Formats: sequence, structure tokens, C-alpha cells
Amino acid sequence: DAVVPPAGAVAVEVVVAAPAHSGLGEPLTYLAARPLAPGTLVRVPLGRREVLGMVWEPTATPREAPAGALRPVAEVWEALPPLDARWRALVAFAARYYQRTLGEVALAALPPALRTLSAAQLTRRLHKAARARHSAAPSTPGGQPPSVTDAQAHALAVIDTSDRPVLLFGATGSGKTEVYLQATARLLADDPEAQALVLVPEINLTPQLEQRFRARFGDAVTTLHSGLTPAQRLQHWLAAHRGQARIVLGTRTAVLASLPRLRLIVVDEEHDPSYKSQEGARYSARDLAVYRARLGADLGCRVVLGSATPALESWHAAAVGRYQRVDMAQRMGGACWPQLRLVDMRQQPRGTTLAPALLAAIEARLARGEQALVLLNRRGYAPVIACDACGWKSGCPHCSAHLVYHKGDRSLRCHHCGHAARVPRACPDCGNVDLTPIGRGTEQLEEQLALALASLRRADGSPVRIGRLDADTARAAGALEHTLEAVHSGAIDVLVGTQMIAKGHDFRRITLVASVNTDGALFASDWRAPERLFTLLMQAAGRAGRDAAFVAAQGSVVELWVQTAYPQHPLFAALARHDYAAFAAQQLHERRTAGMPPFSHQALLRAEARQLDAALAWLRHAAAAAHDLPGRPHVTLYAPVPMTMTRVAGIERAQLLLESPHRPALQALLAAWLPRLHTLRAHADTRGLVRWAIDVDPLSF
Ligand code: ADP
Ligand code: ZN
Ligand code: ZN
Repeated sequence: DAVVPPAGAVAVEVVVAAPAHSGLGEPLTYLAARPLAPGTLVRVPLGRREVLGMVWEPTATPREAPAGALRPVAEVWEALPPLDARWRALVAFAARYYQRTLGEVALAALPPALRTLSAAQLTRRLHKAARARHSAAPSTPGGQPPSVTDAQAHALAVIDTSDRPVLLFGATGSGKTEVYLQATARLLADDPEAQALVLVPEINLTPQLEQRFRARFGDAVTTLHSGLTPAQRLQHWLAAHRGQARIVLGTRTAVLASLPRLRLIVVDEEHDPSYKSQEGARYSARDLAVYRARLGADLGCRVVLGSATPALESWHAAAVGRYQRVDMAQRMGGACWPQLRLVDMRQQPRGTTLAPALLAAIEARLARGEQALVLLNRRGYAPVIACDACGWKSGCPHCSAHLVYHKGDRSLRCHHCGHAARVPRACPDCGNVDLTPIGRGTEQLEEQLALALASLRRADGSPVRIGRLDADTARAAGALEHTLEAVHSGAIDVLVGTQMIAKGHDFRRITLVASVNTDGALFASDWRAPERLFTLLMQAAGRAGRDAAFVAAQGSVVELWVQTAYPQHPLFAALARHDYAAFAAQQLHERRTAGMPPFSHQALLRAEARQLDAALAWLRHAAAAAHDLPGRPHVTLYAPVPMTMTRVAGIERAQLLLESPHRPALQALLAAWLPRLHTLRAHADTRGLVRWAIDVDPLSF
């Protein structure tokens, strides 16, 4: 029976941020004094608490509940326009596809500050925002846009007319950002209400992109990312929701922002793994962007995925015609591509950090007033310290990982759980006082470079300056911007760092990029490792030689140096020709043969427990519970295994991989499996299970 509300009241369906295992089901039914539009925010009682909820469409079959048991909606946020139908459809898709509840996805997409406001506070906030807009003189956008090149004009025409997602495959420095800017400008000129969403992997790493958008569009730009204060985030979100912000520049989470007149979505550096969420709904912002554009088809919404090294999934989608590829192969201003120099580390003495030839090449450039980037994708001084006498190694007491030696503060730190300890004076096992750092990280590389370059002088006679950029040096507020600025201004001659240095920085005087410890990534257990490495090296190389006039005036040769013990690896042959297409073809061939994505679809069921056996046992029960599910004949369930990093912060982690060439079969199985997983009976052998989660289209495992 449908819920029959008492006279004068109506039943409304509401979703709240409760996960499915809370057993609540959704939507929940409440009583309201009058019908409420779907998308309206409300506060509702839930148990003994009161929580933020969102009115949702009534379900086809209302759940049975005696009317007397229904509780009334506590507060209706009348002042805020409801979240629109397209946005709700996006949330519904994300919830369905990533196997979450509507409420989990919908409420997590709202700015956190919204949850703590009362209706009255929100109304005041909205009034204040409206007043602020009337009195603050808007900054006038400046900067005449350059006239576009033929390649850019072609890209813009495709974006205007294509009926498919556009994959903008453009070399670093080929003018992709200018295409985003001009596509946005055209849209805003064409439609006084249209909105554009520009997604970037990490906003702090590419402050120039924000500057360029602000220079072109002034106050029409707003940002949405985790670096904002809760109050700023709310204000920016409201501006987008109410259509005042015409351009939203944001990171992953911004893909779920409310943008009622969204007509252009740009996903810059679309290959970047940070677009995949690693918690909660574990969604891919890139994939949601593509879906979102489809939901906005009636408004003429377009989506552009841009990269010099597209994700192989995107490349394949373009190859089979689902996406439309546009190429911009030439770098702007005739900038050339760095020549690859491979250093065969088998020919170097053991323990060599920087081969003499590489060091000489760096010195030659510094002597001419040029700059160099040195990449080592591992922070700290050394990844582990060890005792030569008994073999003791600095292990994390809570994780299956080593404690990394940080020389600066003489600490041993776990990069997985944050555990920190002082470096022991002697081996804890045998008392030997000679503890040796093994391997090297950016901190040590910086130290060794400083030693090696100590005698070198800049034109003004001062010593050359080395900077370091990694998660450690970037921690202090403003430190990251400061370091990047120092490279731009020339105050730093050599920048050492992790993959952070390879991001979209528009450095002008870099003529040499070096990767000093490449092989770890070449043979990592993760089958995506070659793709990651190739992308990283291509992106790093893209930082060099961006200013062709400078390079020509210097008479310099732009080079990418790679130190490796495997110079024959085919990846380097493609890299030497900066031939992404050849690399992609070879990788996709391997993946097709092995039945890996994008030729199959995957999901992971992850379980975490106090004992590994409990996690594995729970996964075995879960697998048994899947035997008769729809889709099962088309889905391979692999045996549960411990994760590569088995223990983190004292919790043991295991996973079960599901794979199918047929996406709908996998989706059907997951959807039918989930309710069973929630009600899996507690078994004696699963005691100690802490949590479990499903990860659809997992990126790494
Ligand atoms: P990408 O985003 O592909 O790295 P950018 O858009 O940043 O490339 O362009 C590289 C450089 O060329 C930038 O300095 C940019 O200002 C400049 N540039 C881009 N398009 C044009 C153009 N049509 N005319 C002149 N300069 C351009
Ligand atoms: Zn020892
Ligand atoms: Zn740890």
C-alpha cells in the first residue's frame, strides 16, 4: 500500500547521506505541509539526529509504512532553488554505476558548509552574496586573445559541431589551453546565461591556468577545489548553482557541481589518475563529465578531453568512433621536441646517482644561463635504512611498508599511515651503530646535485641554486607557489622533484629534463605502469624547450635524459620519436591479447579487516553469494588475494577482482550482488571485518 499521509499533509521522498549498509533503503518518506519540488533541500529527523536531505522523485512503488509512523520534514530551504533534473539524473547515474546510494552521491556533492547551516542562516548568506555582487565593481577582463592558428581553428570548429565527445590530442605547448579559452569565449558571447566547467587535475600545480582564465574572463571565473575554506567553497558553489558564475574552474569534485546552464565541459590533462576518486563513490570525473555532457544535449552541451598523452581508454574510444579526435601536433612558436638521451646504467659504476655525462650536460646548460629539471618520483632521503650486520630494515609497525628516511628532521616516516619516529642511534635488533640508507629520494638527490655543482657559478658570480618540489617541500602554505615562481623568475637553476614538476608548468628557460631512477616504474606490478611511465616522461619532457626563440638564441639543444638499465625497452623507442600513437598501439595490442581494459571491464570488491584471514574469508563468502546472479556467466570472479600493500595503519586489506568483456553484465551482477553483500551473515571466520567497498573501473590494485 502507498503511504497515506494524515489530512493536510503530503508524503515526500527524501534522500540522505546514508550508505546502503545502514539498511535504511531509499528514498525515505517524510511528511510535509505541501508538495515539495524534487531537488529541494530539507532538514529531516533521522534517528535522534537531524540531517540535511534532498527531496527526490517518488519511487514507482512507494514503500509501505503506516502513516502514523512518518515523521515530518523539520525545515524546508525555500530560499535555495532546487537542484535541477539534469543534475539529479547525473547523480542517479553515478550512484547506479558506482554502486552507491543516491543520498551518498547527492549529499557528498554539496559543499560541506551547507550541512551545518540553518535555513535562516542560508537565507542571510544568499542575501549577502546578492548585495556583494551589486556593490563590488567587477574587475575588467583584459588580454586580447591571440588570433588562432589553423590547427586551433580546426579544433574549435570540431568542438562547435561535433555530436560526440572531442578528444583534443595536442602536444604540450601546442595551444590546447588557448582552445579552451576561445571555446569558452565563443560560448559566453553566444549565450548570456551559458556556463562552462573546466576541470584540472590539481589546481595548485597549475596556477597559470587559473591566471589565464582570470586574465581573459575576470570575475566570470570562480573556482571549486579542496584548497578553499568551507565558507569560500559554499560561496563559490552558490554562485555556480545560481548561474552567477559563468566559468567554474575546478578539480575532480567540481564535476558534480550544480551548473544549471552548463554547455561546455573541458577536462584538461584528461589522462591524470587524480580524476578517479579513491574514496566514497570512487567515480571517474572524466567519465562523469562525458555522461554529463550527454545529459545536457538539449542545451547543446559539449565536452572536450584534452591531453598530450590521452588515457588508453580515451584513445581507444576515439579509435572506435565513440569520441572524435582532433590533433594538434605542432608546439607553438616552432618549439622543438627534446632529443632523447638514454644513459645505460649497466655501464655505470654501482650506486651512481647521476652519470657523469648527464652531470656534464646539466653543467653546460647552467653555464649558459639555462635551467634543468631532474625528476625522481620518490620523496624523502632514502626509502629505507638498514643494518649491515643483521639485516634489520626500518619497517612501519602498522603497514607492510618501509619507513622512509627524512634527513632534514632525522625522522623515519611512513608514507602510507603517517607514522613517524626518530632515526634510532643503533640497530634496534643487534645494537650495531652503522645504519645505512638504501636507495635514494629527492632529498638525497638535491644534496648530491648541490655537491656536484658546488663549484659552478652563475653569470653574476653567485653559486647555482637548486630547488626541490615534492609533497614535503610543498606542505607549508605558499611554498609550492613560491618554488614555481622562483623557477619562472630564474632564481632557481635546477629543480629537483617528484611527478609534481612534470605537470603543466609553462617554464620558459628549461632546456634539459632528466629522469634519474626510471626502472622501478618500468617493472612495477601494476599493469598500468608502462602507461603511467610513458605519460610521466612525455609530460616531463614537455616542460623543456617551450620558448623556441630562447632556445635558438642560446644555440642550445633541448634534451630529455633517461637513466635506465633497460635502454632497449620498446617504450623508449616510442619516447625517442615522441610517438604516443605508436606507444598506444603497442599497449592496446597487449591489452587486447590479455583481455585487459579497455577490452574488458573491471570492478574490485575490497575488504578490510583486523586479520587478513577474515578479509579473505569474507570475500570468499561474497563470491559464493554471487553464483546465481544475473550476468554471472559473463563475469569472471578471480580468487580473493591480499592487496599489494596488504597492511595499512594496522588494517589488513584484500580484494576480489571481477572482469567481463560485457559491461552491462558486470553492472547487472554488481547491482544484484550489493543487497546480498549487505546482508551476508556474520560468519565465525569473518570476525574482525572492518569495512568493504566496491570500486568500479579501478585504476590501480
Ligand atoms: P598547451 O595548453 O597545449 O600546453 P598553450 O595554450 O599553453 O598550450 O600554448 C602554449 C603557448 O603558446 C602559450 O604561451 C600560449 O600563450 C601560446 N599560444 C597559444 N595559442 C596561441 C596563438 N594562437 N597565438 C599565439 N600564441 C599562442
Ligand atoms: Zn642489526
Ligand atoms: Zn605505516
